Amino acid sequence: MRRLLLLVGLIAAGATLAIWFADRPGVVTVQWAGLRFDTSIGVLFALVAIIAIGAATLYRFWRFLRRAPRNLATARQARRRRQGYRFLTQGMVAVAAGDGREAVRLAKKANRLLQEPLLTMLLSAQAAQLDGDEIAAQRYFEAMLDEPSMAFLGVRGLLTQAIKLGDSAHALSLAERASALRPKAKWVVEELFNQQIAVGDWDAAAETMVQAERRKMVDRTISQRRRAVLAMAQCASREATGGADKDVGAALKCAERGAKLDAALTPAMTTLARLLAAAGKQGKAVRVLEGAWRRDPHPELAAVYETIKLEGSSLDQVKRMQCLIAGNPNHIESKIALARVTLAADLWGEARRHLEAVIETVKDEAGKDANVGARVNRLMADIELAEHGDGAAAGRWLAKASQPDESWMCEACGVDHGVWHAICGHCGGFDTLRWRIPRNLPHGSLPKTVDPTVVPTVAPAVDAKLAPS
Ligand SMILES: [Zn+2]
Repeated sequence: MRRLLLLVGLIAAGATLAIWFADRPGVVTVQWAGLRFDTSIGVLFALVAIIAIGAATLYRFWRFLRRAPRNLATARQARRRRQGYRFLTQGMVAVAAGDGREAVRLAKKANRLLQEPLLTMLLSAQAAQLDGDEIAAQRYFEAMLDEPSMAFLGVRGLLTQAIKLGDSAHALSLAERASALRPKAKWVVEELFNQQIAVGDWDAAAETMVQAERRKMVDRTISQRRRAVLAMAQCASREATGGADKDVGAALKCAERGAKLDAALTPAMTTLARLLAAAGKQGKAVRVLEGAWRRDPHPELAAVYETIKLEGSSLDQVKRMQCLIAGNPNHIESKIALARVTLAADLWGEARRHLEAVIETVKDEAGKDANVGARVNRLMADIELAEHGDGAAAGRWLAKASQPDESWMCEACGVDHGVWHAICGHCGGFDTLRWRIPRNLPHGSLPKTVDPTVVPTVAPAVDAKLAPS
């Protein structure tokens, strides 16, 4: 449009000039080398204009010819770059699609056309990984370490490889390097924490959580829960150390820290109470358990409570159990705990009344076919035998005792541990054990149940690689 307006303007100006010269005719005479030229002033101006335009056109053509080789090279380079970027993009798509071989082919083409290793290095590494060539991928990732702008990507790639190979020590050193490069990256914090857990460096993992909480990268509740579990892992390590090195005082301090960080972590409360009782502080242990029962009744709290040996008869045990459950008397676990001690004290009517209340509550809440658990059925069988010597009735209750009770199940691998651990000894998961009813049991198999004679504790990591350093 602008060009059209310019053209119209030029034509109008030319016409105006032609009219102006036509209205003012004049003669121009040129004498040169014995020749004489007579013409009008308008023709002279037209000749000058034609010569100027011709000279300008010749100059432009000369410039075009002079720059032609360079322009051709630039155009060829631009075409190669366009093709290179297209291969780079297609390579990334191939990586996303999981086509390793195609990704490698496109990465090589992109690399040849772009001649910029930094640009294609990541694609080449990812493509090599997809193609199963971990050695080539490692070479690319290591090359990235030399380039400050790519170093983080290189560390991340090498870290992923180390995790895949199960080389925890190397993975930890790489996670520490990644943390130094990008301390505020959430992924880095999580991976650093995971690797510290993998090598059993509980102190470092706890410090990572403290720093992450301070930077608001992890929720305070999550941080405290994790630190509580870590404290219990430390406690287990102290307890697991045998002989003269066994440090009961340090274990107690760890349990106190765990219980303080997360009062809802039942194993922390049971361990703390057990260690306090072992240190002769029965009164304090009882208060810990009563407080925990008030918040969240749990059979393991009652089991530890029963193991704290205070003087007295079985009737005194009943009175003491009433103290434990006083903070939460209507809870099902309170009634089961009372049934257990009243049965031991031969108060069969009392025991039966508590268990019937449990069965009624469970059926009211979950339907008449609901699972009341093996514990309740076994206790009812014991009552039938103890009170009436009725083996047939006891047998009917025992027949229902195959119904599983809640247990410490790993949410990650589904293994029933029976006893709580900070780390799953089967899959290595951190804080994955939850108090759940086992699911998907093979037909006829029985789940592990909590043995009240076993004092709950935090066991050391089973896997050697998870043992504390
Ligand atoms: Zn597991």
